[in-house]
Amino acid sequence: MAESYSICVLPGDGIGPEVVDCARRVLDALSAAGGPVFVYDVQPAGHGTFLECGEAMPAASMAAAKAADAVFLGAMDVAEIPSGGGDPLGDLRIELEVGASVRPSRTLAGIVSPAADIDCVVVREVTEGLYSRIEYMVGDDAACAVRVISRSASTKTARMAFEQATARQRVRAAVGTDKPTRVTSVHKIGVLKLTDGLFLEACADVARDYPNIEYETKNIDACAMEMVREPGHFDVILATNAFGDILSDVAAGLAAGLGLAASACIGDRWAYFEPVHGTAPDIAGRGIANPCATILSAAMMLRHLGEDAGADAVEAAVYAVLAQGDVRTGDLGGTASSAEMTDAIVQALSS
Ligand code: ATP
Repeated sequence: MAESYSICVLPGDGIGPEVVDCARRVLDALSAAGGPVFVYDVQPAGHGTFLECGEAMPAASMAAAKAADAVFLGAMDVAEIPSGGGDPLGDLRIELEVGASVRPSRTLAGIVSPAADIDCVVVREVTEGLYSRIEYMVGDDAACAVRVISRSASTKTARMAFEQATARQRVRAAVGTDKPTRVTSVHKIGVLKLTDGLFLEACADVARDYPNIEYETKNIDACAMEMVREPGHFDVILATNAFGDILSDVAAGLAAGLGLAASACIGDRWAYFEPVHGTAPDIAGRGIANPCATILSAAMMLRHLGEDAGADAVEAAVYAVLAQGDVRTGDLGGTASSAEMTDAIVQALSS
């Protein structure tokens, strides 16, 4: 009998519910083809939830997230939630103890990308750094944000990066690719001497446990330029919160764009999966959002659950439809609706 998994679904705002429904159709098609069974627990969270009940992440939604085998998110309009209304993504990261976010980006057959050959993954710390949410005013003239870097969170994130590198090295060995497996940690040590000093120290300590993985460090500004000039150099990019936030969007833009960028936030006990894009209010409600980023996030969830065959099948179906090129959403230059794109992926999955 196939495995059964409980999935807490937080559709969120804007295009979130639309793309989550598409991904669920793909997961259900996988189940129908003899794959694992998914039991969904759909819970409210986000700006719409705040407007309805005064809190953006109700306690029952958080409890459901903690009780599930995995959490699957659409997108949340966190910028619209007034201060005091809650920070659903921040709370989720803290409560689920997910220290690191993993965001892969690579060029795909059939997709015209600014970079000819990018295949990298950004591993980013997500609970502290410049996004620690500690801000205060100094008199009337200055506002300060506190950049918290801890050895424990840095070590956890670095370990995630080296584990990602090890997995990539294994895949490369299996298919005979000679790209070196490399972790690049990103900093601004010349200015942020204490915080990035501690971050780099933690990274170097972890690197010593992985002698077969090449390790280097780069200044954030030089790294951003090199990503554009020589994207093929990068493999696993290890970064603190804000630097990683920015570089993962650079990587997504250099590869196939936000409509194809998936992500996972993984901790020791819990994990959640979501597309990199936001709520896209400009296209929400029109049924034209590209569902691929969310479907590829579902594939990351399958891999995390140990369902490698299912993850491979879903990724192969998405890549086949993109390579074939007939069915594409507007962001990729086509005219297909989200539903039509999903139909094509479901069909590729079962063929
Ligand atoms: P938020 O504040 O929620 O992050 P945003 O509009 O600032 O919303 P995104 O939602 O990431 O940021 O959207 C940026 C641009 O990319 C928008 O023009 C949006 O329409 C487009 N976009 C984002 N996701 C998709 C998608 N899945 N399919 C098609 N276009 C998308």
